[in-house]
Amino acid sequence: MGVCHVLATCVVGSLREEIGPGDFVVPDQFINLTWGRDDTFDVDRRLVHLPMAYPYCSSIRQAVTKELSSLGLTVHSSGCVVVIQGPRFATMAESKLFAQWGGDIVNMTQYPECYFARELGICYGAVASVTDYDVGVPSAISMQPGSMDRVLEAFHTNTRQTNELIERFLAIAPNILSCSCAQRGVEPYFWQGT
Ligand SMILES: [Zn+2]
Repeated sequence: MGVCHVLATCVVGSLREEIGPGDFVVPDQFINLTWGRDDTFDVDRRLVHLPMAYPYCSSIRQAVTKELSSLGLTVHSSGCVVVIQGPRFATMAESKLFAQWGGDIVNMTQYPECYFARELGICYGAVASVTDYDVGVPSAISMQPGSMDRVLEAFHTNTRQTNELIERFLAIAPNILSCSCAQRGVEPYFWQGT
């Protein structure tokens, strides 16, 4: 369809005290803990070793961070998202482990979404809105009895702000269209063998 850049949105829980509900995170890394999902977009199932050291487009990340800041929102310009399988949430032990691994936020959709875009040579960036603390954070409000109202309130506020961001982003999007970081290194890594 000619799509060359994707700005995705996602809702996340925070693994760190300093990343609070209502904040925004612009991820630069992910840790995939999902299973049973498609691991390639390539219908021919050719073996592809795609460089993934930096899965997120830095041009989109910089632009999103700038726009979120100019909206007066609290934005973390980088962050590692731990992608869990779901639909269940993490246990206390798992949540603490994710933070020890270097995870900053937790989510269920960034994989394989991010990878698929890169596999197609599409620059991919995401804006993650934080609704609550994950259960391993000492001040967690997540999934405690009576906390759902606060979580939903954060969700609705974040959604409104994310919509605002997207409107602003569309206006400046042409400035980042020259970036083609996702296309580098794709073709040479196609292996035509069996
Ligand atoms: Zn890019």
